[in-house]
Amino acid sequence: MDAKDKTTANRAGEWAFDTTAAHAGDTHIQQAEQGSPVISTVKPLYLSNTFLAADINEMDEVFGGERQGFVYGRYANPTVGELERVVALLEGGQLENTAAFGSGMAAIHAAILATGVAAGDTVVASRDLYGQTWALLNGQMRRLGVDTTFVDVTNIDEVAEAISRVRPKLVLAETISNPILRVAPTARICELAHAVGALVLVDNTFATPYLVRPFERGADIVIHSATKYLSGHGDTMGGVAVARTRELGDELRRVRRDTGAVLSPHDAWLITRGIRTLPLRIERQCENAYEVAKWLSEQPGVESVNYPALKPGALETLGSPLGGAMVSFVLKGASRGAVHAFMEHLKLITPATTLGDLSTLVLYPVMSSHRWVDEETRQALGISEGLLRLSIGVENVKDIIGDLEQAFS
Ligand code: PLP
Repeated sequence: MDAKDKTTANRAGEWAFDTTAAHAGDTHIQQAEQGSPVISTVKPLYLSNTFLAADINEMDEVFGGERQGFVYGRYANPTVGELERVVALLEGGQLENTAAFGSGMAAIHAAILATGVAAGDTVVASRDLYGQTWALLNGQMRRLGVDTTFVDVTNIDEVAEAISRVRPKLVLAETISNPILRVAPTARICELAHAVGALVLVDNTFATPYLVRPFERGADIVIHSATKYLSGHGDTMGGVAVARTRELGDELRRVRRDTGAVLSPHDAWLITRGIRTLPLRIERQCENAYEVAKWLSEQPGVESVNYPALKPGALETLGSPLGGAMVSFVLKGASRGAVHAFMEHLKLITPATTLGDLSTLVLYPVMSSHRWVDEETRQALGISEGLLRLSIGVENVKDIIGDLEQAFS
């Protein structure tokens, strides 16, 4: 394959997932094609907030959208564009319909606005959403007149009833929910939503496109907190939204330009670098998570374990042989004090309010991610005082289990 073929194949998404990921940020072929005197193997980090064109006419055309190019950092940046290109390919979407944001929440907010929801419209959303997404819908959006009906998305009859009753403009779900790790039947949800003209927004942060590609199930917008698995190293924050259609993609970019929720080029560069090892990390993390979940389910001090691969039918619904790298479990009869003590005794596993890193992390939902969710909703979701969430890393699984074992004892 000559250099030109390589670029074309990559741009057209002809490579396998792992090949595309391994070549994230690899643009030397384009530089060579464009006759650049500097040919770097890794895409340069463009920190400039403003870009020039060959002449003012060309600049005018870029401003007018008649020519592709860059003028101002809040509109677009080449380093951010490379991340958008790769995530679009991995999700099976188009670069033109993809926009990166300063955080996962900024991507969710922009995606909601891009669907055109306005005062008087209704959203149907999964009841066990990430706490901040729940808070965004219940706080800011409700204040602006957008009402949300929360449902158990794993109960398709409840979803169907809510959709036909409230006729929402938007349906929102996570492929694997946070922190109970329930799997949403996204294909059925999309059918039901589309039947009433609603759009479907899927948060694919926990599953990653390595496990699930929601566009293949009919989703209209897929979002990621790129802070998590895409980046994978705990050293950056970002979000990406990929829309199915050009119309929605244009709207995503318009919202980003209007609200200024842009991703910094430096973060985009780090996330793109992280994506190079995404398949390797996810494979290992899923293997480890399965072992940890199995081990936990055999411990007398554990009341219950949530992990898709241990739940009958969940992997079929997910459409992946891998169950993801998140595991949550309930410490039997534990008070907050007992949970704090358990966390204090962990030596390898870090108590951190994030997930998807190389190293194993533990989070206490009632203290952090679901702190602002009211008690009644938490109870309904099964987020009890004894629930802990693990984000399993790439360490040797014996060390992860060994650490949990010594904390139990
Ligand atoms: N979606 C999910 C599933 C998350 O877990 C998180 C954060 O933990 C977010 C979205 C928000 O991402 P960020 O923290 O990058 O804004």
